[in-house]
Formats: sequence, structure tokens, C-alpha cells
Amino acid sequence: MLPLPIGEGYDYRVPEGLDLAEGDFVIVPLGRRQMLGVVWALGGSGDIAEARLKDVVGRLDAPPMSTVLRRFVSWVAAYTLAAPGQVLRMAMSVPAALEPAKPVVAYRLAEGFDIEGLRPSAARRRVLTLLRDLPPLPAGDIAREAGVSSGVVKGLAEAGALATVLLPPSLRPPVPDPALPGPDLSDDQRSAAEALSGGIGGGYSATLLDGVTGSGKTEVYFEAIAAALRDNRQVLVLLPEIALTPHWLERFEARFGCRPLEWHSELTQAQRRDGWRAVSEGKAGVVVGARSALFLPFPDLGLIVVDEEHEPAFKQEEGVTYNARDMAVVRAHLGEIPIVLVSATPSLETVANVEAGRYAKVTLPDRFAGAALPMIQAIDMRAHRPAPGRWLSPPLVEAMRGTLEAGEQAVLFLNRRGYAPLTLCGSCGHRLGCPNCTAWLVEHRLAGRLQCHQCGYTARLPSECPSCQSTDGFKAVGPGVERIAEEVLHTFPEARFAVVASDTLAGPAAVGELLRSVREREVDILIGTQLVAKGHHFPLLTLVGVIDADLGLMGGDLRAAERTYQILHQVAGRAGRAEHPGRVLLQTYDPDHKVLKALVEGDRDRFLEAEADDRRRAGMPPYGRLAGLIVSGADQRLVEAVALRLGRTAPREEGVRVLGPAPAPFSILRGRHRCRLLLKTAKAIAIQPVLRRWLAQVEVPASVRVQVDVDPYSF
Ligand code: ADP
Ligand code: ZN
Ligand code: ZN
Repeated sequence: MLPLPIGEGYDYRVPEGLDLAEGDFVIVPLGRRQMLGVVWALGGSGDIAEARLKDVVGRLDAPPMSTVLRRFVSWVAAYTLAAPGQVLRMAMSVPAALEPAKPVVAYRLAEGFDIEGLRPSAARRRVLTLLRDLPPLPAGDIAREAGVSSGVVKGLAEAGALATVLLPPSLRPPVPDPALPGPDLSDDQRSAAEALSGGIGGGYSATLLDGVTGSGKTEVYFEAIAAALRDNRQVLVLLPEIALTPHWLERFEARFGCRPLEWHSELTQAQRRDGWRAVSEGKAGVVVGARSALFLPFPDLGLIVVDEEHEPAFKQEEGVTYNARDMAVVRAHLGEIPIVLVSATPSLETVANVEAGRYAKVTLPDRFAGAALPMIQAIDMRAHRPAPGRWLSPPLVEAMRGTLEAGEQAVLFLNRRGYAPLTLCGSCGHRLGCPNCTAWLVEHRLAGRLQCHQCGYTARLPSECPSCQSTDGFKAVGPGVERIAEEVLHTFPEARFAVVASDTLAGPAAVGELLRSVREREVDILIGTQLVAKGHHFPLLTLVGVIDADLGLMGGDLRAAERTYQILHQVAGRAGRAEHPGRVLLQTYDPDHKVLKALVEGDRDRFLEAEADDRRRAGMPPYGRLAGLIVSGADQRLVEAVALRLGRTAPREEGVRVLGPAPAPFSILRGRHRCRLLLKTAKAIAIQPVLRRWLAQVEVPASVRVQVDVDPYSF
């Protein structure tokens, strides 16, 4: 199998004298070049005449790809209808890691060097002092420990103060220590931890760890991690947005004495190579990562934890479209190990699996240390309209005033980046849209740009209207977080506020700095998008105001209600902790909506039941199966022709229905026209064979792409 997005596998001859086993990494000729691949099966397909077979060039001296990982790759490919080679590519994302490891350059103090003669700077002095007590270290490690740039280390080496040593390439990532004491657990926490730890080493099991925010779910699954480490097994923790979790890493370090190995898209090539090797050699005890960490070559994985299992970020939408949460369960099953899915607002899929007896459930019913859950109220905006051009209702303003006077902190939540989602001409009403997409341009006033949130196109606000040439200016319509910040500044000129959105906070360092400033009370009001909903704990945060609780409920998406419930529940969970009870105000024009009622009444399970009933009646997931087809291409006529042909040849079997073709949401995206069809089947029908038969009937020109999305998250 070659890591290429085409084909099922390639046949080669094993030359005399080369001893190969399944899973070995090998170099093979392909056309005029050579490629790295994996021996998928010995024996071959027999499709190619013996005489035409080419020889395997050689075998790599690297640990072979395990049977479990190969079966996993095949499984994911079959389920998502991706080519196995395309999935294999995710499992071979770091080819450099397979080459023989090079020795590591490390530095120690040079003997007999007159340091004072150098008249060292403070930074240099820190390095020299540090190295007095330590074994030779690579420049990066020294720099981090001493808090200097690695240029300082190199400079000292050039000056002759440091000598270089070549260390053998064996990797010694820090080893998490399960023997360090954890916190004293409450009775509920202890029995939950025991239930999870009891599964370690006992084969496959799937368990939902269900508990309200602040109930200590993290502490509890840390105990399961400790149990797996004591058993000398590796652990994989999947988090939805790895770059935003400095807080999680700190907690891990506090519990286990060092950081886990991180795996995400922002690593450098060298970090990826070292990380991959540390995993494959079994030296990385705990890996925390985003989706792609599922494809790492663990030789001895003993436990998988998926935190915030309900998060849509686990769904990969590009390339191989897979849900990492679901595939993690598959991997646990193939590897015969336990998996723990963690959430305060579990997905309907997971709840249905618990009800069907496929997953066990462990519950933490209360917030830790008797902290009260926040009081959640709806503000009926029909009765409390803000002034025109304003978005904060009088009751919310009153509550904020009270919070500020008490010296406490507030969060205002609006899941919309920028200043305004729509900009129109003051004379003719022309709306400014993206030239590449069917999307409006969003004004980002802080950056002084208009931006397309679909393709990233940016432009300045034009000086005249492109439609009527009027120069009377444009009107911003609707609020984004920046506009709410403007209103806060106007209403509470004394208050210190910060705006939290992915475009105003660049990278984990900025997030970390912001969290610190909130913890240290340098900020009174935090205004933000979903980023503020993430699991940060601020003891003085007692008020959460949701600017537009109805925002996510429009549009009729399958998961609109479920997703809105999850987000609002999570944001609400920011309010109130141990000593300070919290209050949550939801601004809504539809206070009788089932999502709002469930939040106000605190009755999650009734909401889940009602939602499950709706889905069951409609035959929608998790009680039916869906696959989306997106047909796209630059030529609208060709795209529509393919979509229509797919519509005409749609399978007509018992329990199978096809909806569409219809224009996709964003019917033009990045200059490509898009149509979609939706295949819906009864739960009992395997959707993949139906899809395969269907797709095989329709010829698709090379300039048109048909993307298959099994279990689409939204549509
Ligand atoms: P969850 O993941 O359910 O939101 P956390 O594990 O983050 O809950 O716990 C919430 C807060 O309570 C954290 O600050 C955590 O350190 C603290 N906490 C939870 N359990 C304990 C415990 N047994 N002892 C001390 N602190 C705890
Ligand atoms: Zn105009
Ligand atoms: Zn665009």
C-alpha cells in the first residue's frame, strides 16, 4: 500500500534474499521514482502478470506498522469510502521519522574556560549557571530551561564557553509519573475513577463519563490514565482544539510531573519526527492530540480518552471525512482496549449507544465541593428591546452593573467574529459579498478590513458603492463581538474588557496570556465567541450574558438544537464556582423554544429525550444513516449535469431515500460551484455498499469532484 489517494494497493515481487513481513516499511519503484510504502499483504492480488512485476527495492530498518494500525487504516477507508492509500497517508504523515535517527548535538560547559573573561550578559549567565548542575542538553532544552533564545546558547558555544557532545539518538521524552499523588477524590469521583480504572487491561469497553461542568471529570479520567501508566500501557487523549489548551496541559503537569507528548498541526517537522519516534518506540506514555493523533503508531496503547466527545471539531471535513470520536471507538475495538468518552452534554449518538447497552455510563452528578450550578434565566427580548443599534437589553445591563459593583467578572457571549456580519450601501441597499463565494463579507473594524469567513478573502471597505456608485457610505447590520465591545465601552466606560475571538488572539501564547490576565482580575468583562466557552475556571466570573441565544437555531440544520444546547450549556458553565454563585442571562426572542426551556429548567435529559424522539420519528441519526455528496467544480453546467445524473440514478431500494440535488449551502465556495445530494437509509442498512453501487454508475469528468461524507455533521 502506498500513501497515495488512488488505488487499493500495488503488487511487487520480493527479490531473492529479502525477507519481508506484513507491516514492513519498504521502498518500491513507482513510475520513474521510488516511494515508501507498507507491505499490506504477502501474496498479492495476482492481477499483474508475473513477468511485469517490479522488484521491491529494499526494507527500512524501522519498526513495522502494527496489525492493529493496518486494520484500522483499512477500516477507516472502507467506512468513509476514501482510498486506503489516502488514509495510509495520515498514518505515515512523518516519513522522516522512519529514517535512521541522527545523533543529537548537546552542549556542556567547556572545561577550563575563563567565563569571567567573557563578561557574560545576564542571559548568558543564566545558561552557564544552569549547565553547572545538568548533563549535556540540546540547545532547545537549555534555552527553554534558562528562558533565553537558542541563539544565546549557540553564541556561547562559538565563544568557546560550551563544548558540544553527540548524544545517541534515543529519545527520552519526559515520563509521566502515575505514582505522584492526585487530589483527594469525593465519593462519587472515587467510584467513577474506580469504574474507569477497572477496565484497564480488560479488553475493549466503551464508557461515557457524564458529569456537569466542574464535577471533576478531568480529575477522574486522570486516575484512569494513571492506572494505564501503572500497567505500562500508552494512553491517547483526544481533545477538540489542542492549540487552545494550555490550561489542560498545566493540570496534566501538576498531576503527573511533566507534560504529555502533544500532537497537532502546529508542530514543527523536527517535533513531529521526534514525537512520532517516541510514540512508536513506546517511550511516550501519554499523547494528547487532535484528530490525527489517532493514526500514530502506538505499539502498546492501553486506553483512549475522548474529552468533549460531542464537539464537531472532531469531524474532519477535508480529505478523508471522518469523525475522530467514532473512529477512536473503532480503534479501541480493534486494539481490544477501553475507551472513555467524556462530556457534560453528550451527543445524541453517544446517548443512544448507552441506551442500547453498547456503551457503559459513569455519572458525576454534582459540581465538586458543593459548588452550585448557575441560575439560568431567559430575557424575553420582545419585552425588553434594546435601543436601535444596541444589543444589550436593560435587564442584562442592570445585571452587568451589579456584577461590576461587586468587583466580579462577566462574560458576554456571541458566536460571531468581527464587527458586523453584513454591510450594505446606505443609498441603494447593495450588500457587500465575497467575489469567490456566496457569502457576505464580514466587517472586522479592529483590523480595518472586510473578510469572507468561508475563503479568507479580505478587502478594504470601498469608498463608493460598487452598485450605485454612491459615496454616502455603508451601514453595518447586526452585531459581531467587536460591536458588542463598542457598546460595552459606551455603557461602562470605566470597565476593562477584552475581546476573545480566533482572529483577535493569535496562538496558544496569546490565549495563555489572556487567561492569566482574567485570573488576575485585570479584565472585568470578557466578550467573545465560542473560545470563551472552553474549560477555563475563573473564580470571580459570576455573570454570563448570551447576546443572541437564538443564533444557532436558525437554518434548520439537523443538529441545530443539539449544538445550540451544547454551546449554551458550556458557556453557562463558566458562571459561578465554589464561593461565588453564578447567573446566566439568555437574550432570546423565542423563550418557549425547547432548547431555551431545557437550559432554564436545567433538564438536560428531557431535552435529549425530546430531541431523540424527533430524530427517531424522522429516521435521522442516530436512528438512521446519512451520507452527503457534494458535487463541485469551476464549471457550473458540468457540476449541475453530474448532480442531475446522480439524482436520476439514485438507488431506489427499500429503506433508502435520496434528497436533492440542491444547491449546497454556499453554492459557490472559493470559486467552485457546489450542489449536494443526501442519501438517507434505515439504521439496519449498511450505507457504504449502497453508495458504492450508486457512484459506480455515474461517470464524473476530471474537472468535477464528488466528495462523499458519511455521517455528515451538518447539512
Ligand atoms: P470538569 O472536567 O467536570 O469540568 P474538572 O475536573 O475540570 O471538572 O474540575 C473542576 C474544578 O474542580 C477544577 O478546578 C478541579 O481542579 C477541581 N476539582 C475537581 N475535583 C477535585 C478534587 N477531588 N480535589 C480538588 N479539586 C478538585
Ligand atoms: Zn449603492
Ligand atoms: Zn469567500
